[in-house]
Amino acid sequence: MSDFQKDNVALMCDIGELVGIFDFEQGFDSFLQRAVSMVAWHMRAAVCSLYLYKPATRELVLRANQGLNPQLIGTLRLKIGEGITGMALKEMRPICEARATDNPNFKYIPGSHEENFVSFLAVPIIRRMNPVGVIVVQDPQWNYFTPNDIQALQVIASQLAGVIENADLLSELRQKEQQDSPAPVFHGEQEFGPGTHCVRGVGASDVMGMGLSTRIGQYLTLDQEAATCPLDLTEDDFDRALLATERQLLDLQRRLEDKIHDAASMIFGAHVLMLKDEAFSGEIRNQIRGGKNPWTAIVEEVRRYSRLFAHSPNPALREKVLDVEDLGHRLLQNLSAQSMASTNPDYSGQIVIAEELLPSDILKISAEGAAGLILLGGGQHSHVAILAKAMQIPLVIATDRRLLSLPEKTPLLLDAKEGQIIVRPGPEAIQTMQNIIRSLADSLRLAELAQPETRTQDGAEVHLFANMNLVSELDVALRVHAQGIGLYRTEFPFIVRSSFPTEEEQFVVYSRVLERMQGAPVVFRTLDVGGDKVLSYFHAAPESNPFLGLRALRFSLKNPLIFKQQLRALLRAAHDYPQARIMFPMVASLDEFLEARALVEVCHRELQREGIPSRIPELGMMIELPSAVTMINELAAAADFLSIGSNDLIQYLLAVDRTNTRMAPWFAPHHPAVIRALHCIVKTARQHNKVISLCGTLGADPRLMPFLLGIGLRHFSLDPLEIPAVQRRIAQINAAQAEQQAQHMLTLGRIGDVADYLRQINPPD
Ligand code: PEP
Ligand code: MG
Repeated sequence: MSDFQKDNVALMCDIGELVGIFDFEQGFDSFLQRAVSMVAWHMRAAVCSLYLYKPATRELVLRANQGLNPQLIGTLRLKIGEGITGMALKEMRPICEARATDNPNFKYIPGSHEENFVSFLAVPIIRRMNPVGVIVVQDPQWNYFTPNDIQALQVIASQLAGVIENADLLSELRQKEQQDSPAPVFHGEQEFGPGTHCVRGVGASDVMGMGLSTRIGQYLTLDQEAATCPLDLTEDDFDRALLATERQLLDLQRRLEDKIHDAASMIFGAHVLMLKDEAFSGEIRNQIRGGKNPWTAIVEEVRRYSRLFAHSPNPALREKVLDVEDLGHRLLQNLSAQSMASTNPDYSGQIVIAEELLPSDILKISAEGAAGLILLGGGQHSHVAILAKAMQIPLVIATDRRLLSLPEKTPLLLDAKEGQIIVRPGPEAIQTMQNIIRSLADSLRLAELAQPETRTQDGAEVHLFANMNLVSELDVALRVHAQGIGLYRTEFPFIVRSSFPTEEEQFVVYSRVLERMQGAPVVFRTLDVGGDKVLSYFHAAPESNPFLGLRALRFSLKNPLIFKQQLRALLRAAHDYPQARIMFPMVASLDEFLEARALVEVCHRELQREGIPSRIPELGMMIELPSAVTMINELAAAADFLSIGSNDLIQYLLAVDRTNTRMAPWFAPHHPAVIRALHCIVKTARQHNKVISLCGTLGADPRLMPFLLGIGLRHFSLDPLEIPAVQRRIAQINAAQAEQQAQHMLTLGRIGDVADYLRQINPPD
């Protein structure tokens, strides 16, 4: 057996080292070779081989190896299902053999010298559920590889998958280069005139920002003089800029991993790989040697890649446009910083303007210290907005396209609470904003005054829990005395990464959350991807209406491989922490809930068979679909607890897209259909003696709190920063009186009548 037992911390270190490989390696093949050496060393294995899958021939080709005959590299080919290696890819699962020859699929490779190696472990490398390759370790000792080793190699395989994909995409790109598409036509936007302008949008994150405007990749549109860059630059200047950019990216990656270790894995991987790619940086250097100015050479090369990415039929490549533009922006900033030490190489102090962003971009921008974000599209309830709020980045979503043609470094004020953007603010506006920022800081201090207990004016106890998207939010949740985590959106660590987290990685993150919550309950909602939550690395069939498509529990049940990995990680964490709970999102029928529960039981039995400690915790479900409201009696009987997802419930009940800003007036929580549905859910759950909570944004709406308490809701899960204000609002409400008010509201048939009544019973704004 292995004398080198890996624990979780060691696993994470392995990954760190793999990331570090980017630091000094040049070509892809030598990267793969270093990877196998490192894996062999870490696993104390005599042999490590890496095969890549070639879709054109449906074969695995040996691309890197340590310990076997090196002449096999590039020549040894296996069909899918051929040998243990081919079988691991065919069945997309690790295969571990104490004695390889016992496996009927074992195939001896003549001339390989592998007859000395008895133990065999093959782990498929999978990306977006597509085969990428297989990594194999072998050793002369019998039964050498442990379950820990299997998990370690799975972690490594998942990390490699991302790197390999990026490298493959680049080579695909180069092949396509001949069919270069025409340059995009620039549609001149109207521009803001001189002076101050106020642009209305929708605030998405309740914080304020001040800074200078920048568009992602904006440096690419500037000429050298406008960017105050010296004109007499040389190849040495370019090399220095390259080195500085690389150092910044690795530093960013490290900082990001410290801050949000659950989500940050390899987020700047594509940037670094691109920078290392000879066909990119080497080409720029060639151009410089041929007499081109470094600035122009960078701009031209970045534009060429960006154009190719943008016009690629491959969605994964199209997503890289932002990465390559960001990289170009950085290189140019560093180039002009050669003689101007003051220039800032990241987004600190800047307000980033973009047409569209992925959730992972929000992480990058936040890691680069941006003062705010303006998005020309998307909705307040979209998940990009939820993430911005979680990261406390001021975000305003606006539709005024003149923002796109603002000159670089235009002063901006961003009020993400009111949804206002002030372009070139005067001294008064700046003063006002500074006051608001100060009073917000005061209100944060007020948050410290939150009480551990919440009661209505007449003494009814109410339980306030925190919603959580990333582990970094735990501190705030603890600061405001949240009684636990009522909704952990576990999909965020999935969304913002570049590859699927493994069972082991998930187990580490979930255990850490439970540990930090010191015995308080934590409700882990299983993956809710689909809709506006896209996994960039998972190839999903295009849907014309994703919110009505393969989302949430439907997605998980359709992808049992992914779902089971998550459930296994949760059951393992639940074993060590009794306060863990599991909740399924978007349950549409009793059948779906039962199917999910059965899968939990399968995972539990599997883990027991493998001798891995696990426990089935309480299983709950979200009530957020009209069908669930209709079936509430059966659902409440089956589940251990329920939670209302008002964001989706309103969206689906009223057929109003939660991500569409223009539809905001129709997104009416006080619509009689909504309040009657809420009443029906709460009443039925209570009849079944099941805990019912509300975890959508509605819980933070002070106008509706009398109604929510009046129908008997006593559990809420909120954005942690909302907790102090909600606690104060609850303390003003008399529960007995609220019950009467709620009864009256339920008799009203018009939206306007409910709105009037809410104005009557609530204090003026
Ligand atoms: C909801 O729908 O109200 C909810 C809490 O879940 P999410 O916002 O993640 O869809
Ligand atoms: Mg929801």
